[in-house]
Amino acid sequence: MITAHKAFTQPAGARNWQQALAEAVRDPRELLEMLELPANLLPSARRAAQLFPLRVPRGYVARMQRGDPADPLLRQVLPLEAEFEEVPGFRADPVGDLDSQLDPGVLKKYPGRALLITTGACAVHCRYCFRRHFPYSEQNAARGRWHQALTAVANDRDIHEVILSGGDPLSLGDDRLGELIQGLGQISHVKRLRIHSRHPVVLPERVTRALCREIERFPGPVTVVLHANHAREIDSHVRSGIGRLRETGALLLNQAVLLRGVNDNIEALEALGEALTAAAVSPYYLHMLDPVAGAAHFDVPESRALDLVDRLRRRAPGYMVPRLVREIPGEDAKTPVTGEVVDNTP
Ligand SMILES: *Cc1c(COP(=O)(O)O)cnc(C)c1O
Ligand code: SF4
Repeated sequence: MITAHKAFTQPAGARNWQQALAEAVRDPRELLEMLELPANLLPSARRAAQLFPLRVPRGYVARMQRGDPADPLLRQVLPLEAEFEEVPGFRADPVGDLDSQLDPGVLKKYPGRALLITTGACAVHCRYCFRRHFPYSEQNAARGRWHQALTAVANDRDIHEVILSGGDPLSLGDDRLGELIQGLGQISHVKRLRIHSRHPVVLPERVTRALCREIERFPGPVTVVLHANHAREIDSHVRSGIGRLRETGALLLNQAVLLRGVNDNIEALEALGEALTAAAVSPYYLHMLDPVAGAAHFDVPESRALDLVDRLRRRAPGYMVPRLVREIPGEDAKTPVTGEVVDNTP
């Protein structure tokens, strides 16, 4: 952990982030030891890591509270026995991604926008992620140096915005990303670019000047949507990286997932709004958990979610209140959660 911190004080270079990525903690025993947690958590962590491997950057572990098994950052990454529970309604592809492919790795679910699965790799493995069961090797736009994906986008004049997603698009090197961004910039009907990434939060070293230069190559407006769920995820290194992103002129937004035991209380949501605003990032979406197999223990009931957002709305300025949404397969947009009964049978 000490070496990870030293690396932050050097100018952020390509080797640093790739090294930090490679040095992520993958062994449940090491994670528990670093955090001085009881060894009796180990057997179940090991078993659940076989469902979806543990992966967490050291710099992110450094933001966790030692000795606290309920730490809200730890909860997002620690494999638990609860992941083996089979809960009705929680399934492998909860958001119907496999039904909305224009081309392998190119999803078009919503009018005007296409989402590219640029890579399956992430810097961190979030236990609640709906992509934990996604067949990345087949559904990846990176094949053939983007050629096929760019052709699919170029052939559909309804696509005005392309969203780079994954996995995490910033797991790719600057060269690969640069090629893609330039290729998209040459398609005249693609007016806007969006990047959905958790890297600036979990591996802020990734936000190098070189990356920012690649982002600046896109001729139109760029939006970067970060993913932070808790105020403690946003430390000074994260703020510096966000500052570099801001200098590109990109609009900076955040999406969070409402997670039991992580941010399902009014203090946590208010603190997250404050921390994002302090970094000049606007809260965009607060997602209801996608009902993915193995994540039911993170679920927050809709009535409680509505109550939390309503309380936030009464306490905080309007720009700090995210839109509470749920993804319902077959809908034309993320669906606002309003408390009215929705029929979410696919
Ligand atoms: C969430 C999502 C988008 C973006 O939706 P916005 O409401 O524009 O943020 C686009 N495509 C897919 C497949 C998505 O899941
Ligand atoms: S896609 Fe996003 S939420 Fe899912 S594991 Fe990767 S970083 Fe976490």
